[in-house]
Amino acid sequence: MTGERTTGLDTDVRFLKGVGPKGAALLEKVGLRTVSDVLWYLPRRYEDRRDSPEIMLLRPGRSSTVIGTLEVVRSRSIGRGRVIIEALVSDKTGEIVLCFFNQPWVGRQLERYTGKGVVAYGSVKEGYRRRLELHSVEWEPTEDEDAEEFARIVPVYALSEGVPQRLVRRAVASALDQFGDQVTDPLPDSFRTRHGLPPADTSLAQLHRPTSDEERVNARRRFAFEEFLYLQIALQVRRQASKQEVGISFPISSVGTDSAPTGSLFSPTTPVSLAEEARGLFPFELTGAQQTVIQHVWRDMEAAAPMNRLVQGDVGSGKTAVAAAAMLAAVRCGWQSAMMAPTEILAEQHYINLRQIFEARGIPVVLLAGKLGAKERRIALEKAGNGEGSILVGTHALIQEGVKFHRLGLIVIDEQHRFGVAQRMALRQKGETLPDVLVMTATPIPRSLTMTMYGDLDVSVLDELPPGRKPVTTYWRRPGDRTKVYAQVEELLATGAQAYFVCPMISENEKVQAQAAEDLHYRLSSGVYAHRKVGLLHGQMKAAEKEEVMEAFRAGETTILVSTVVIEVGVDVPNASVMVIEDANRFGLAQLHQLRGRVGRGARRSFCILIAEGTSDDVVERMQTLVDTSDGFLIAEKDLRLRGPGDLMGTQQHGQLHLHVADLIQDANLLEKARETARELVAEGALDGPEWAAVVKRTRARRGEEALVTVS
Ligand code: ADP
Ligand code: MG
Repeated sequence: MTGERTTGLDTDVRFLKGVGPKGAALLEKVGLRTVSDVLWYLPRRYEDRRDSPEIMLLRPGRSSTVIGTLEVVRSRSIGRGRVIIEALVSDKTGEIVLCFFNQPWVGRQLERYTGKGVVAYGSVKEGYRRRLELHSVEWEPTEDEDAEEFARIVPVYALSEGVPQRLVRRAVASALDQFGDQVTDPLPDSFRTRHGLPPADTSLAQLHRPTSDEERVNARRRFAFEEFLYLQIALQVRRQASKQEVGISFPISSVGTDSAPTGSLFSPTTPVSLAEEARGLFPFELTGAQQTVIQHVWRDMEAAAPMNRLVQGDVGSGKTAVAAAAMLAAVRCGWQSAMMAPTEILAEQHYINLRQIFEARGIPVVLLAGKLGAKERRIALEKAGNGEGSILVGTHALIQEGVKFHRLGLIVIDEQHRFGVAQRMALRQKGETLPDVLVMTATPIPRSLTMTMYGDLDVSVLDELPPGRKPVTTYWRRPGDRTKVYAQVEELLATGAQAYFVCPMISENEKVQAQAAEDLHYRLSSGVYAHRKVGLLHGQMKAAEKEEVMEAFRAGETTILVSTVVIEVGVDVPNASVMVIEDANRFGLAQLHQLRGRVGRGARRSFCILIAEGTSDDVVERMQTLVDTSDGFLIAEKDLRLRGPGDLMGTQQHGQLHLHVADLIQDANLLEKARETARELVAEGALDGPEWAAVVKRTRARRGEEALVTVS
């Protein structure tokens, strides 16, 4: 074995005491190759085996440790080839039977220790004729060296079949004994002392072999905090860097005054202040929340550093108005704005709305979407390039090669979660001067996720819905009630309401999905609703067709719109007040909330009907949550709990967070603390000191990975 390293943390596990080549082969199955792998393979849970009462005092229903003498072992057949091994163990106060189901080999192992001492842990049950039994047993002979390790808080590791817990425990114990002193602490001593954080090596040992619950809880918190700290330092560094960049100072407060920029391309005919003009932009009064957020945005725009602001607002909170006010400001200061939406339908809708708002004021709005014909596209590109278009609206087409802006000053990204970090960067690089970026999302993101994913953005929350919004009454109905549901919907349609029917989510495949929509469309338009005009919308249709269908629905020419989830995001038809979601169990909680957000936008009382079989606890919980609440943030928290952050943000995204120890929900307060700490460290410039080198190095490694990630 020349050349094999047997000293560092990258030593092969086979050199660990009690592991050897055989053990190493098994450990490899769970991906443990080096000492470091083993040390950082943290327990999934713990078993507290410290409670070892005398047998007489054992109580059914509890998990306990039993110490006694193995009297006799027997094997009992219970039919169909199944077998129970029963081992009678006694101490001076009584007897208990250890039961092993379908593990015939255990019998042979046990027999070797007949008449000798054993220690066993399991759950105490009362068997036939009130005899005491121990089930789900783990045991050891007391003469074994490991025995003293037995009656303590024992770590339980996630393992694949055939890899014994005992092996991993032994490997970990040896790794700690032989190599524990090589675990270095990246955090400076003075910092740890100040924050009451124990050293890394002690904490690691305590995580694997805690002597008390308090010890393992504290050890875990230490590492969770450390993980959050890396994440937050990376974000704060990025944030600080972007604050130091020089962008555009939009002279917002001087718009409409004598000192208004003379070079302004789009100066208004009558000079009025921006606030005044913004108020006149909409057919409604802005909510307090909208006004506040618009102030945040304008303040950012006026500052020299480029704006990086996220506006979070539940569905229907009126984010478009905020975007419009920002774009108005850019235009009045002589800059172009680009608004990017995740789907053609949504881009189209923004285009229609914005044109209505702006063109009356002589501000030209241009659509730049993938659907344009060659000639239209050329014209649109020209208008972007020569500045004739003040506001450009589009999808991803906006960031494709070939789109040149004349003077791009502001980028609005609607529904950020659909876009990748990379796309955001690409857009920013379009303008020669760094443009301001306003990101809007309706997907309510729990605060803890916001702090991790968007920690480099400033956040404003639209926490108020426009007045007069009535909550959407939500019902959960079983497929067997479908006929009744359809009849009730018909009653609403008869009063002039319009309805969406969302078809079951059969597949991610657009073609299959389109087929499902066509099937539902056929069923409805030839059945119950044969007398009504029923539209159909799915992802396989040509853009022009989609547009026509949406327009017909918007105009009330069609009463029902059958659709795939393409309508999930942003679609706004106020007269539509009924949302029927077929096979709602196939959709995630956040998605259902988005879909429901399509209704409840107008004067009519709105309804959402979820048709779903309650096939599992998870489905029941999702449906009940929607019935119970319309609070997007509550729903997002629940979603995070039910599915884990991975699913919520796209699996890649979560993997990218590299949280091994920390938990976004459970450790939310630690995250806050890490954020504060990171902020201080970055602001004080403390990280430049040599004692922080290890932390900076780890943070960098993490950031390198981050750049590769896309949110999908
Ligand atoms: P979202 O935040 O989901 O993007 P929208 O911007 O699409 O919301 O607004 C939803 C609906 O509410 C639109 O019909 C819009 O015209 C209307 N709306 C927005 N702000 C107000 C307000 N302050 N008062 C009344 N209606 C409003
Ligand atoms: Mg919107």
